[in-house]
Amino acid sequence: MTVVGASLSGVYAARELRAQGFDGRLVIVGEEPHHPYDRPPLSKDFLTGKADEEQLALTDSEEVAELDAEWLLGVRARGLDARGRTVLLGDGRTVSTDGVVIATGASARRLPGDALTGVHTLRTLDDARALRDELSDGPRRVVVIGGGFIGAETASSCTALGHDVTVVEAAPLPLVPQLGPEMAAVCATLHRRGGAALVTGTGVARLHAGAGAGGVTGATRVTGVGGVTGVELSDGRLLPADTVIVGIGATPNTGWLAGSTLGLHDGVLCDDGCATGLPQVVAVGDVARVGGRRVEHWTSATEQPRVAVRNLLAGRTVEPVRSVPYFWSDQYGARIQFAGRRNDGDTVRVTEGALAEGGFLAVYERDGRATAVLSVDRPRPFMRARRALMRTASEAEPAVP
Ligand code: FAD
Ligand code: NAP
Repeated sequence: MTVVGASLSGVYAARELRAQGFDGRLVIVGEEPHHPYDRPPLSKDFLTGKADEEQLALTDSEEVAELDAEWLLGVRARGLDARGRTVLLGDGRTVSTDGVVIATGASARRLPGDALTGVHTLRTLDDARALRDELSDGPRRVVVIGGGFIGAETASSCTALGHDVTVVEAAPLPLVPQLGPEMAAVCATLHRRGGAALVTGTGVARLHAGAGAGGVTGATRVTGVGGVTGVELSDGRLLPADTVIVGIGATPNTGWLAGSTLGLHDGVLCDDGCATGLPQVVAVGDVARVGGRRVEHWTSATEQPRVAVRNLLAGRTVEPVRSVPYFWSDQYGARIQFAGRRNDGDTVRVTEGALAEGGFLAVYERDGRATAVLSVDRPRPFMRARRALMRTASEAEPAVP
C-alpha cells in the first residue's frame, strides 16, 4: 500500500492500515523533507515562540518503528497511472502498489505579484520558520491580507508579539461563510479588542516594494525582487508595511493526479466513504471531496482515514464517513469552537452566556432543529452540544449495506 502525503491525514491512514491488519509493504511519500508535524500550532504557539519544533511532531521513534513503513520524504509524487497501480515520483522512481491513499492536502493560495521579501504565506513549517524569524527582528508594521483563519490567528499572534497589525478583508465582515453574519460580527470585535485594526469591504490592488524592486508591483505581474513597503487597497488607501501575511485560502493539491483517471474538481471526487472511481484508491483530509463536500479541518483529516482504510481493504464502500464537521480557532486569548453545518437563513440564538463578554454558547437552527453550534470560551457546554449534534446526525443517516 502507498500513502501519498506524509502529514496529518497520511499518518492517520498509515496507522489505520496497520491497526486494521494490513501487514504488507507500506510506503509513505511526502514532498516536505520533514517528518510529519502538526500545522495548527504554526499560526499560534509556534509563531509566538511558546512551542518549539519538537512539540509539533506527529510521530515518535517508537511509532515509526511500529509502523514499519518505507518513508520517502523530500520527494514529490508526480503521477498516478490510469489503473492506480503505480505512483510516479518526481525523482524518476516508481512505486508499484496494490492500493493508494491520497493525502496530499492543500497549499496556500498566492496573491499575484507576491514574490517580495517580507511577503509570507503560512502553510508549512518552512513558511512558519521564515515568518517567525522575521517577526523576531524588532517591532514591525504587519498587514494581514484575508480575515479567515490564518488571518485571524496570525494577527492575534503578531499583536501578542507587540507588532502593529492591520487585517484587510474584502468582505464586509470576516468569517461570514463559516459563522454567518451575526456571529462573524462578534468575532470581528475580537480583532479590535485584541489591538489589531480591521479594514473590511475593500480588496487589495497591489503591493508596493522598495526602490530596489522598481516601485509598485502590479497585481498581475511579478516585478518585485526587493522588500515590501506597503499594501495599496482597491479604494486607494496605502497601508505601510514591513511584513505582509497573505491568508486568502487554500487550494487542494491535485495537480499530480492530472493524468490519472480520477475525478478531480476542487479536490479528489469521492463517495461518502472516501472511495474514488478506482476501487483501490481512496482520498482523505483537505484534498478529498467526500460525498460532495471538502472540509479543511484537523478533525476531518483524523476521522476520515479509519473509514477510508476500511473501505480500501474491503475493495468497496462498506461504511460511510458519519461525521459532523468541527473546528476550533484560538484568537486573542479566546477559544472559538464550531460544529455542524450551518446554512444561510438558519436562525441563531445564544443559549448560555452573553455576546458582550465572558464567553457564550450559540445554537444555529432550522425548522426547529439544531444545525450547528458555536462557542467562545465555553468548552464544556460546547462539547455537550456537539455530542448531541453527532447523535442526531448518526440517527438520521442510514447505514450502507
Ligand atoms: P496537509 O496537512 O496539507 O498535508 C498534506 C501533505 O502532503 C503535505 O506535507 C504536502 O507537502 C504533501 N504533498 C502535497 N502534494 C504532494 C505530492 N504530490 N507528493 C507528495 N507529497 C505531497 N484546523 C483546525 O481544525 N483547527 C486549527 O486550529 C487549525 N489550525 C491550522 C493552522 C495552520 C497554520 C494551517 C496551515 C492549518 C490549520 N488547520 C486547523 C487545518 C489543518 O491543519 C488541516 O486541515 C490539516 O493539516 C489537513 O491535513 P492533511 O494531511 O489532509 O493535509
Ligand atoms: P480561509 O479560512 O478560507 O480564509 C480566506 C480569507 O481570505 C477569506 O476571508 C476570504 O474571503 C479572503 N480572501 C480570499 N481571496 C482574497 C483576496 N484576493 N484578497 C483578500 N481577501 C481574500 O483560508 P485561510 O485563512 O487562508 O486558511 C487556509 C487554510 O488553513 C484553510 O484550510 C483553513 O481552514 C486552514 N486553517 C484553519 C484554522 C482553524 O481551523 N483554526 C486555522 C488556520 C488555518 P471570502 O470568504 O470573502 O472569499
